[in-house]
Amino acid sequence: MGDDGHVYCVSDYAKKFGDVCKVCDTPILPSETTVKGGEFAYHVEHFVCFHCKLSLVNQSFIQKYDNIYCLADFYNIIADKCEKCNTPVQDSDFIDAMGSSWHVECFVCHRCKASPDCAEGMYEHDGAPYCHKCYKDIRTEVYEKTGVELP
Ligand SMILES: [Zn+2]
Ligand SMILES: [Zn+2]
Ligand SMILES: [Zn+2]
Ligand SMILES: [Zn+2]
Repeated sequence: MGDDGHVYCVSDYAKKFGDVCKVCDTPILPSETTVKGGEFAYHVEHFVCFHCKLSLVNQSFIQKYDNIYCLADFYNIIADKCEKCNTPVQDSDFIDAMGSSWHVECFVCHRCKASPDCAEGMYEHDGAPYCHKCYKDIRTEVYEKTGVELP
């Protein structure tokens, strides 16, 4: 019996009143263990890291693009990587610049290693950041070598 007075077979009941597993997209029956992860529900056997398949029950996990990951895999595989040192950037101390993520300490002038006062103060050349002064030098060098005027 459903709550609305109608009679349902088990799978219809689960579809109507129960949770649908986010991973296998089938209803979680009352006899099965449901795990709530964020806004979604999972069969307990499907509540696993998308990458390493380890159970995330009672573990910290991060959801991204509809999949769930253990923290280690998330930071190793999914998280943005610093353009310079190629290790994951954490949420707190990174700069989004030139279409990539950078650790604050990695986003320094490629030539003189000076940190910018602000990210906008850096200029891009060949995918690397340069301070205003070094960029001016590079412009001059490139112009002298090739006759091409950089922007
Ligand atoms: Zn499932
Ligand atoms: Zn994992
Ligand atoms: Zn870095
Ligand atoms: Zn510089």
